[in-house]
Amino acid sequence: MRSVFSFMLCLFIAASSQAQALKPPKETALDRFLRYVKIDTQSAEDQETVPSTKKQFNLANLLANELKEIGAQNARVSEFGIVYAMLPGNLADNSKVPVIGFIAHMDTSPAVSGENVNAIIHKNYQGGDIVLPKDPTQIIKVDKSPVLKELIGDDIITADGATLLGSDDKSGVAEIMTMLDTLIQNPRIKRGTLAIAFTPDEEVGTGVEKFDVKGFGAKFAYTVDGESLGEISNETWSARTATVTFKGKSTHPGTAKGIMINAMYAAADYLSRFPKDILPETTEGRVGFVHPYAGVIDVEESSLKILLRDFDLSGLDAKEKVLRDMVAQTQAKFPEVKIAIDVKEDYKNMKEVLKDYPELTDNAIEAARRAGVKAFIKAIRGGTDGSRLTFQGLPTPNLFTGGANFHGKLEFNSRRGLEKTTETLINLVQIFAERVKAAD
Ligand SMILES: [Zn+2]
Repeated sequence: MRSVFSFMLCLFIAASSQAQALKPPKETALDRFLRYVKIDTQSAEDQETVPSTKKQFNLANLLANELKEIGAQNARVSEFGIVYAMLPGNLADNSKVPVIGFIAHMDTSPAVSGENVNAIIHKNYQGGDIVLPKDPTQIIKVDKSPVLKELIGDDIITADGATLLGSDDKSGVAEIMTMLDTLIQNPRIKRGTLAIAFTPDEEVGTGVEKFDVKGFGAKFAYTVDGESLGEISNETWSARTATVTFKGKSTHPGTAKGIMINAMYAAADYLSRFPKDILPETTEGRVGFVHPYAGVIDVEESSLKILLRDFDLSGLDAKEKVLRDMVAQTQAKFPEVKIAIDVKEDYKNMKEVLKDYPELTDNAIEAARRAGVKAFIKAIRGGTDGSRLTFQGLPTPNLFTGGANFHGKLEFNSRRGLEKTTETLINLVQIFAERVKAAD
């Protein structure tokens, strides 16, 4: 009862222009969230298919049915496990308001198991570290997660210490579903047409490749996949991956004199040349890095895979030059080893496009403000589905979900996090309808 009441209260305060309180959604974001995290949707690296794991269809099919039940239109699951749906606008002329998309991902990180997730609600949190019951070595510490200080009196949701929680990104899924539910319950909230998508395989970067931007039909979109309340991101890394190969010559070591060329030493020399001040372990904030993250060490052929990350293309070019100069240096020292470097683009900073759509960020900031949440802009030291979509013609910044500590057993969200994010989404839909009308 408390949850329904507080949700209604939130909506009432938010909708100050509304004459009376809004009807609550049929189900709270928290109740939806608790249902979704029980379904294992872990994705897997290096698979040929999308989705990378069949089990992601279990949540996709459930969501398509729930979308139909709450009254969304054209809910369907594509052959790649992407859930699409529409909610038509309720304006006199819906064509005057752009179709806005809302996107969240269904899969959870391959890094930690998402099987048999046992969500625990720590009611009325009073501060201090949170020890997870199934594995007391798993402790959410206030000094490592200072956002806890803002959650006094809130109900915090964690896993039990054996798995991740799956807040990333089932929070986003639950919040978007509850936004739709609330809008459908309250037709007097003015809205343009909305397009909805829930994607698989975000964590392994492949789901969005199968995204039907044209069929989705939105002019722009928001991914709801960020962290603590208020965090809005319109900037991500620009990203490349380098592969450096070292070709030597293998032979029987008993008769190798004068013949064997051991490529391993050249690879080791190359690794020893990495500048210490542009590595992930020595950088933060807006400073980019190079990161050797995998490799094969062998006499005949060794190879290294290296991530290059920067917010500016010029910075990325400079890092690529560092890696190429290092090739030249190692090559000079090992003239018999054939060294080659191949650099591929992964994705680009969405800011390159989003700078032309300032209203997407401005409206999100205002939507958060109306929900009593102070927004802040944070550049993501990573990529999102939106990074790719933005360059496929669908400008897509990222919004908060209320969650924290993604991809690990210490992941958490809170009741207020889920409710305030939902409220922000509802406000955002209204703001687009208002602002276009005002511009007429
Ligand atoms: Zn995510």
